[in-house]
Amino acid sequence: MSQANDSFKFTEETTQQVKTKLTPIQVWKVLSVEDNLDYQNALVASLEALILPNRTRLQVLTANSAFEACKVLNAQKDIGLILLDVVMEEDDAGLRLVNTIRKEQGNAQVRIVLLTGQPGFAPEKEVMSALDIDEYWNKADITPEKLHSIVSSNIRTWNYIAALNEAKQGLQIVLDAARSINSRYDLPSFTRAVLNEIGRIINVKECGIVCMGDCTLPFEQAQILSATGCFAHLEGLPLVDQQLSIMHADIRAVLEKKQNVITPTQSFFYFETKNINEKCYLVVVNSEQPLTSAHINLLKVFCENIGSGFTNIALLNRVTELAYTHSELNIPNRNWLSKEIHNMSRQEWRQTRLLMLEVKFFDEMKFTFGYEFIQGVLAHIYKNLRQILPSGSRVTLSGHKQFSILLDKEFKLSPELIDKLTINEIKVDGVAHTSLFSLLDMQLDTINQNSATKIVSMAESALKEATLKNVSYVQYSQEKTDTISRRYSLMTELRQSIREGKLNVMLQPKVSLSTGDVVGFEALARWQRDDGSFVPPDEFIAIAETSGLIISLDCLIFEKTMQALQRLLELGYTLPVAFNASSFDLLHPDYFTYVSGCIKKYGLSPALLELEVTETQAITDYERIRHSLQRFAALGIKISLDDFGTGHSSLAHISNITAHCIKIDRSFVSQLETDKNSQHVINMILNLGKKFNFTIVAEGIETDYQKQWLTKMGCDVGQGYLFAKPMFTDELIEWLSANNTI
Ligand code: C2E
Ligand code: CA
Ligand code: CA
Repeated sequence: MSQANDSFKFTEETTQQVKTKLTPIQVWKVLSVEDNLDYQNALVASLEALILPNRTRLQVLTANSAFEACKVLNAQKDIGLILLDVVMEEDDAGLRLVNTIRKEQGNAQVRIVLLTGQPGFAPEKEVMSALDIDEYWNKADITPEKLHSIVSSNIRTWNYIAALNEAKQGLQIVLDAARSINSRYDLPSFTRAVLNEIGRIINVKECGIVCMGDCTLPFEQAQILSATGCFAHLEGLPLVDQQLSIMHADIRAVLEKKQNVITPTQSFFYFETKNINEKCYLVVVNSEQPLTSAHINLLKVFCENIGSGFTNIALLNRVTELAYTHSELNIPNRNWLSKEIHNMSRQEWRQTRLLMLEVKFFDEMKFTFGYEFIQGVLAHIYKNLRQILPSGSRVTLSGHKQFSILLDKEFKLSPELIDKLTINEIKVDGVAHTSLFSLLDMQLDTINQNSATKIVSMAESALKEATLKNVSYVQYSQEKTDTISRRYSLMTELRQSIREGKLNVMLQPKVSLSTGDVVGFEALARWQRDDGSFVPPDEFIAIAETSGLIISLDCLIFEKTMQALQRLLELGYTLPVAFNASSFDLLHPDYFTYVSGCIKKYGLSPALLELEVTETQAITDYERIRHSLQRFAALGIKISLDDFGTGHSSLAHISNITAHCIKIDRSFVSQLETDKNSQHVINMILNLGKKFNFTIVAEGIETDYQKQWLTKMGCDVGQGYLFAKPMFTDELIEWLSANNTI
C-alpha cells in the first residue's frame, strides 16, 4: 500500500495554531433552583464573583420552582451544573425534579448538587445513588472557596462527559462515512462521497474539491475530479484555474510536503497511489467555523479510510485494466473488444464496421524466429495499423495472431488500403520482414445478433474460412451469418447428441471388381436430429473437427462399429470393416488407447479393422501422424489413405507412410468418362499401387462404364452406389443374404 501511516501526519504547527489561537471562550452554564429569593440572590452574586480559568465564563441561570426549572432545562440543553434546593413547593420537590431530569428528560450528563437549609434533612444514600445525585451540601457550609471547588470540579466532569459523548457520536459518523465511501468503486462517485462525508463529520455545508494528478508531473496538470457547494462550478477544470488562485500557494505547500494541513477555515488532505498507478490526490474542504480539536481528530481517523479507498480503487482499476489489455504489449485485448461492442448504442452499432486481421504463417514464424521476435512483430503491426487507419479507430489484439479494429462504417476501404492492410512490410531489430494477412470486413448491422462474444466468434469463423481458402480479403455477408448461426446451433446440438450416444453407423459394402464378391465394408457416421432430419456427415464432421468434438464423436462411432462387426461375425460374415479417423484423433494420445481398449473389450481381431485417413490430413503434421499410424499398424490394423489424389502429397511422403490401401477419390471416378485428366490421375495411382504394393479401392462408382473401365485398368476393389448405398446393420444383413454373400 502506498499510503504509509506517516504520510497522514498533520503538520504540528497548524494543529497547535488551531489549539492556541482559535480555542473559543468556553461558557459554563450553571442553574440555581431555589424558592428562597434572598438566598438565591446571594448565591448568584457569589457565583458571579468566582475567578475562573482562562477563556472560561460563567453564565448563571435561575429558577424558583421545580416546574420553572424543567422549562429552563428543556430550553437549554448544555447546562452543566444544577444547584438544587431540596425543599421548595413541597418537601421533596427537589428530589422529584431530579427524577424528572434523569428519567423523563433523559439527561444523564448534567451534574446535580443538592443544597438544603435544614441540617437535619439528608436523603438516604440509596436515594442519592438511585437518583444519580452528585453531591449534597448544607447551605450554611457553602463558603466562596467551597462554591468555587463545587462549580469547577463539576463543570470539568460535565465537560469531560460531554466530550466523550461527542466523540462517540463523531466516531459513529466516521464509521457511517467510511461505510458510505467504501461502497463506491469508481472515482467520481467515491470522491463525491468523500466530500459529502467530510462535510457531515465537521458539520459544515459541503464545499470542497478533489483533484487527481500524475505524481510524476507538475501539479499544474492535475484536474478537479469532483467539486461541491461553493466550488461546484469548477468540476472538470484544471487545478491551476484562475478561480482557485488564492489557494495555489497553500496547495503547492501541501503537495511539496505531501502532508495534510489544516488552517482555520480550510483543510487540505494529500493521498497517493504511487506504487499502483503513479497518481496523487488532493482534497480541499472549506469550513466557515474554525474546526474543533474533536473535528480534527475525527478527520484524522477518516483520512485513513479515504487513503485506503483510493488505494482500493486504484487496485481495482489495475486489475480491470489487466483483464482488458495484453499484459506485455499493452494493447487492448479481446475482452476489451467485446466490452466495446457490448457497450455500443444502436446508433453506434449501425455506424460501425469490424475489421479482423489474421497474421498468416504465424505459427511457422514463431517456430523459426522465437517468441521475442513475434512480440516485436505484433507491436510493429499494431503501430502500423494505428498509422494506416483513421484516428478514432479502436485497434485491439483480439487473439494471439489476430487484430480486430472497430471503425466508422463510412470509412472507405480502397483496394490500395486493403493491400496495405494485408501485406505489411516491417523492420524488427533492423531486419526487414513481410507479414501477410487475411482480412475480414464486417458491418455490424449485417448481423442479427447482439451478443458481443458471438459476433467476435462469428467473425473469427469467417476469417478462419478465408485463411483456409487462402483468400486475403473477405466481406462478411448475411448469407455467412445464416451459415454460421446454423453451424453454431448444430454444434450445441451435436455435443448433446454425442453425450447421449445418439449417433449411429451405416455400413457400405466394398466389392472385388474382378469377382463381384463383397470384400469388406466402410463404416460411416450418421446423425439424425430430434426432428427426424439427417445432417450430412460432411457438415457435422467439419463442425466436430473445428469445435473439438471429433475425438468423442469418432470414439462413439468406433464403438458402434465394433457392435456392428460383432453382429456380422455372429451371423458368419467374417469381413473387415473400415472406420474413418481424423488427424485430430491421430494426434490425440487418448484415441489410440481408446481404440485398442475397445478392441480388447469386444474381443475382436484387429485384422478385421481398417483405419481410413484422408491423404490431406495424413500429410499435415506428417511426422507425428506417421508415428501414430505406425502404432495402429503395429496393432494389426490396416491403414487406408482416403480421398487419394486430392492431397498433392509427394512420392517421398507416400512411400514413408505405413499404408496398405489407397482409395481413389470419388471426384476422379465420377469424371473419368468425360475427363482424360481424371483417367490419367487414376492410372498414375494404379501404377503407384502396383509399385508399392497397395490395394487400390475406387470410391463412388455409380455407372457400369466406370466399373468396366476401372476393372480393365486393374483396380482391385470398388465402392459405390452401383453396388450398394450405405445401410444400417439390419438392412445390410438383409442385403447380404439377398446377395448370397455367404
Ligand atoms: P468418405 O470417407 O470418403 O466416405 C465416402 C463417402 O462417399 C460417404 O459419404 C458415402 O456415402 C459416399 N458415397 C459412397 N458411394 C457413393 C457414390 O456412388 N456416389 C456418391 N455420390 N457418394 C458415394 P458420407 O457418408 O456422406 O460421408 C462423407 C464423409 O464424411 C466421409 O467421406 C468421411 O470423410 C466423413 N465421415 C463419415 N463418417 C465419418 C466418421 O465416422 N468419422 C470421420 N472422422 N469422418 C467420417
Ligand atoms: Ca472413408
Ligand atoms: Ca473417400
